[in-house]
Amino acid sequence: MKKGILQPGQTIGIVGGGQLGRMAIREARRSGYRTLVFTDEPPGSPAGQVADGEINASYFDEDARIKFIREVDVVTVEFENIPGPFLAALEEKMGVHPSRTAVEICQNREREKTWLKKNKIPCADFRVVKNVEELAVAVAELGTPCVIKTAAFGYDGKGQQKLTGGENLSAVWESLSAPRAVVEQWVDFVMEISVVCARGQDGSFVHFPPCENIHARHILDITIAPARIEPALTDEAGKLAENIAAALKYCGTLAVEMFVRRDGKLLVNELAPRPHNSGHHTINACVTNQFQQQLRTVAGLPPGDARQHTPAVMVNLLGDLWPAPDKHPDWTPVLRHPRAFLHLYGKKSARERRKMGHFTLLGETPDAALADARAIRRELGME
Ligand code: AMP
Repeated sequence: MKKGILQPGQTIGIVGGGQLGRMAIREARRSGYRTLVFTDEPPGSPAGQVADGEINASYFDEDARIKFIREVDVVTVEFENIPGPFLAALEEKMGVHPSRTAVEICQNREREKTWLKKNKIPCADFRVVKNVEELAVAVAELGTPCVIKTAAFGYDGKGQQKLTGGENLSAVWESLSAPRAVVEQWVDFVMEISVVCARGQDGSFVHFPPCENIHARHILDITIAPARIEPALTDEAGKLAENIAAALKYCGTLAVEMFVRRDGKLLVNELAPRPHNSGHHTINACVTNQFQQQLRTVAGLPPGDARQHTPAVMVNLLGDLWPAPDKHPDWTPVLRHPRAFLHLYGKKSARERRKMGHFTLLGETPDAALADARAIRRELGME
């Protein structure tokens, strides 16, 4: 069993090939660690481009898995839809942070919501349904509006539908084409926030200030950090994240997405067992960024100071903005701003709704950063 504090020169295995892995690898390099990516994407994934090595194979390919195990000293993940048996095989040989159990809870809405309820973490009332009859009962009990979400493989609004009453439930169930789903009460929220936090192998815990998230077409569009909420709510959100991380016996960077209900109550919407899109501003606005936190905790080191030194706004750049799949927009409006930072993920081809990059804007206050970010968005043709 490979264990203990990772020494520079040793290798961190990253499961997944996306931009979150790419940004984590940058931090690993800064500290002298080697990295090996395992992804089922073709060679040259965003993370693979910057890693010391990349294995491109199915998560069910035993030979590839054995090679990965031989070459890495510890493992972390950059997305959650990883087959459990793959992580279980890794866990037999070395530390996997976060654990297979934590990843499996977060990758499936049914398991996640059931776990939240069992651990008395406030979340929207819900029912698990396996057929149209159960769906009808759930809708009758929860009332409308409500939202149906597939249990597995849901993100960025995929596999979910709002029900306002009067729908043909048979058609809704058919269109979902999933064996199980979660039906959730609709939350009348005034704001969506997230708390990105990190927990070390020894249980030490830090969290970034909660940030405010604005979605467009179910995808994160803008993050405002810190969130424009009262200090008491900030404390409550941080405490909630700490309780969740502790109950999960978590190690690594974790994101907790929450709704702020109109009456001020916080309800947890989703957990992400990895750095999160709403934590990208931490690269430019916090003492220790969310990827450095992941790297430190996975390597057996304590998490760093999570203070935010400057208010910031993060804007996602989706493929829709690209004039052609391989032609970049003119970034002048971002580049000429003295406090804007452009991050691009090295994706070879732009597609609608695909996350291609982001920019972070620092300001004297969250509102000032937001005003400047909106001005840049207008110049880029995003508003
Ligand atoms: P999810 O994929 O669960 O994160 O949902 C994507 C987005 O849909 C959320 O960020 C919310 O804006 C909205 N949403 C999801 N569930 C609910 C709910 N129960 N009530 C109100 N809005 C929701």
